[in-house]
Amino acid sequence: MTNLTVHTQPAPPASKPAIEPPLWLLAELTYRCPLHCVFCYNPVNYADHARELSTEQWLDVLREARALGAAQLGFSGGEPLLRDDLEVLVREARQLGFYTNLITSGIGLTDVRLDALKAAGLDHIQLSFQDSTQQLNDFLSSTRTFDLKKRVAASIKGHGFPMVLNCVLHRFNLPHVGRIIEMALDMGAEYLELANTQYYGWARANRAQLMPTAEQLREAEAVVARYRKEIGGRCTIYFVVPDYFETRPKRCMNGWGSVFLGIAPDGAALPCHTARSLPGLEFPNVTEVSLREIWYESDAFNRFRGVGWMKEPCRSCEERDRDLGGCRCQAFLLTGDPANADPVCDKSQAHERVIQVVKAAEARAVSNERPVLFRNDANSRKIARDHSQVRAVGTGIAIADAGPGSPGGCA
Ligand code: SF4
Ligand code: SF4
Repeated sequence: MTNLTVHTQPAPPASKPAIEPPLWLLAELTYRCPLHCVFCYNPVNYADHARELSTEQWLDVLREARALGAAQLGFSGGEPLLRDDLEVLVREARQLGFYTNLITSGIGLTDVRLDALKAAGLDHIQLSFQDSTQQLNDFLSSTRTFDLKKRVAASIKGHGFPMVLNCVLHRFNLPHVGRIIEMALDMGAEYLELANTQYYGWARANRAQLMPTAEQLREAEAVVARYRKEIGGRCTIYFVVPDYFETRPKRCMNGWGSVFLGIAPDGAALPCHTARSLPGLEFPNVTEVSLREIWYESDAFNRFRGVGWMKEPCRSCEERDRDLGGCRCQAFLLTGDPANADPVCDKSQAHERVIQVVKAAEARAVSNERPVLFRNDANSRKIARDHSQVRAVGTGIAIADAGPGSPGGCA
């Protein structure tokens, strides 16, 4: 049974009472992945950051995070199964009292590894599909993996794991939402996460091709609503409308430095998994600084905590405690300044940019397409090297839309 009460440290000093401990640790074990998804949220320059923490270093991260109070742990990547020490890490996490979730493409999840992960105490598995059809699934990942994923889903259930089936949605597969739900039901998934694309990383590079139309979203929402009524509690379906179609931003990561602590493969500690795209921030590394100091003391985790950093219109806005100004990465990508209001908000002076992107998607529905950009090492290195809008920032890169003449994508 998961023990969430032990291993916690005393609260931080009284001088910083507002900072609560992290609850959710995301361990991105590697950026390596056998798939090449066009919407991957890994940094577009991931190929420049091949260094990975050792097993011992990851074990230290788990112990420190649990001591801080983190209770939920996701093993992610890239593809975490490419680490042959995954079972060692899961076993330690279980002994520490974490609730553990494996976030995987399913490639490499053999019966042997499922047995070992079960014995190590893994609690939950999230399996991703790109679509309900072999053709589109295999196209979007640039691999022939659809049939293998289906076999893996059956094995996961055969081993008695609770399963989340995850499918990232965009203009190519939104018309298939009903079939994706049917697939999840057939596979016995307890949860289905229909994750509308967030436009960071490779999805940002392919935004012009992936952005759906408002009509596609409305139709998909109606299908989801119908299924929810029909299936009751058989499978819980999550469907969140993408930011670009809203007039208020979401409370991103439940607030910067609020509950989420992400560790990149090389040990960089991140307040959200795309924070490396932001300029002017140095993200401390767990090999050099303790997690406690990172969480409570570092500039990276304090910069956008709470509301003290806000500029107008957020500073004097009566809604600021509800959304905390939205997403810092989106603010930077669309305005060039991460301290601006998220331009999804219609109080932002830059909201027109969001409207223009959506309008462009409507117009493009009847126009010719340009090719999508697949996530692979060659493209990663090319983007980092060539693109005039890429600014080297520490170990990450930033691609901003703001300013005259800026392109619609980084491809
Ligand atoms: S989104 Fe696709 S390419 Fe990216 S880590 Fe997941 S499976 Fe790999
Ligand atoms: S102005 Fe800022 S705080 Fe107010 S609703 Fe918009 S994003 Fe939220």
